[in-house]
Amino acid sequence: MNLNVKDLESLAGEGGLLVGDDLAARAAGIWDPEPIRAAALLRPRTTAQVARILALCNEHRQGVVTHGGLTGLVGGARTTADDVVLSTERMNDIEAIDPDGRTMTVQAGVPLQKVQEAAAEAGLKFALDLGARGSCTIGGNLATNAGGNQVIRYGMAREQVLGLEVVLADGTVLSSMNHMIKNNAALDLKQLFIGSEGTLGVITRAVLRLRELPGSRETALLGCARLDDVVCLLKHVDRRLGGTLGSFEVMWQEFYRLVTSPSSGSSAPLGSDHDYYVLLESLGGGDDDGARFEAILAEALEQGWAADAVIAASGRERDALWALRDDVEQTNSHGPTITFDVSLRISDMERYVAKVRERLDAAFPENHTWVFGHLGDGNLHLVVAVGEDSASTRRRVEEAVYEPLQSIGGSVSAEHGIGLEKKPWLHLSRSPAEIDTMRRLKRALDPAGILNPGKML
Ligand code: ZN
Repeated sequence: MNLNVKDLESLAGEGGLLVGDDLAARAAGIWDPEPIRAAALLRPRTTAQVARILALCNEHRQGVVTHGGLTGLVGGARTTADDVVLSTERMNDIEAIDPDGRTMTVQAGVPLQKVQEAAAEAGLKFALDLGARGSCTIGGNLATNAGGNQVIRYGMAREQVLGLEVVLADGTVLSSMNHMIKNNAALDLKQLFIGSEGTLGVITRAVLRLRELPGSRETALLGCARLDDVVCLLKHVDRRLGGTLGSFEVMWQEFYRLVTSPSSGSSAPLGSDHDYYVLLESLGGGDDDGARFEAILAEALEQGWAADAVIAASGRERDALWALRDDVEQTNSHGPTITFDVSLRISDMERYVAKVRERLDAAFPENHTWVFGHLGDGNLHLVVAVGEDSASTRRRVEEAVYEPLQSIGGSVSAEHGIGLEKKPWLHLSRSPAEIDTMRRLKRALDPAGILNPGKML
């Protein structure tokens, strides 16, 4: 470490500095039980404390890795023994809710679920939702521009933010706590930091955009024979639901069979012979939404875009349908897995998945590959199990999944970010000029390179 631990002691307030055994008692991440590696962990309570910590670290060229809920999937929060960890866990206040302006002002360390619940108590909705909601923090969601299950309706994390407060590497507090939907007074600086994975600044507070709480929620699972049918179904329901389509998730047959197999503990709501399963949801406001939803699905069946359908008749049935889509853990029953998050045009999906399977089958004849995801957003997740996951195997599997994306203009990251794991593949999705511009921004905002060193670029 480049500075004396004693110098940090007074900066994060009472109980704000963890070293030695206190530090070693903490896990490196939600998915990583190993003890955290770091020279020290700081737990500031205020923006002013964050500013003082960064100013000192900048002066000493000391690397700082910001930690939220540690639920990321690409190693973006990974540390070395020399790093100082800046945890936002004690910056966890919801400061204000404005029900008429439909905003919520929060500190970065508030868990996503707490934001959702506070919004619901005020009769409103915070429109970001993902499986890690109980552990992930709003600061982490914004730093990684998280996606999730309702992007087709409300957009990514980026679109749920009106204002942001960020501390720059040199300790400058950049406060852009805007409350307005429209503000074209020159550059919208907050967008620079959303999705920057802690490499350009530390997010300390935010003004979140809230929406009216939907008055109805209709959920159905449909079985389709062809991907072309799935696309027709998507266009049909989006058009007929008049802006209330909330989710459009698809599971390929292998994934559906896995999550409804006897050992999964879940029963199959539809037969297992369809090639694709669509989980779709409408978030409406009217009393007759249920009947309308049913009629729209009947039209789809009549047109042949879906072969079978089941509509959730209760909250419990809805949860059971979502539990299938969320039961990614079942893939662990076939040994170590490698998880992917890619983005591509819907019209390329069928050929892309066939290409990936062909390459995997050639290299690993025994592979298990499951495909599912947010098809309505052009975002697929692939989980691949080939029996082991050594570095060289992982590299070959990554080649099979990532390389076919380049020629079709796809992205190696739809919603998980780049972190460390996807860094070698960034060039497939971003041009040299794009990457050079990112480097210029990094140099301008963090010339000493102290923020989340080695990540993303
Ligand atoms: Zn996802």
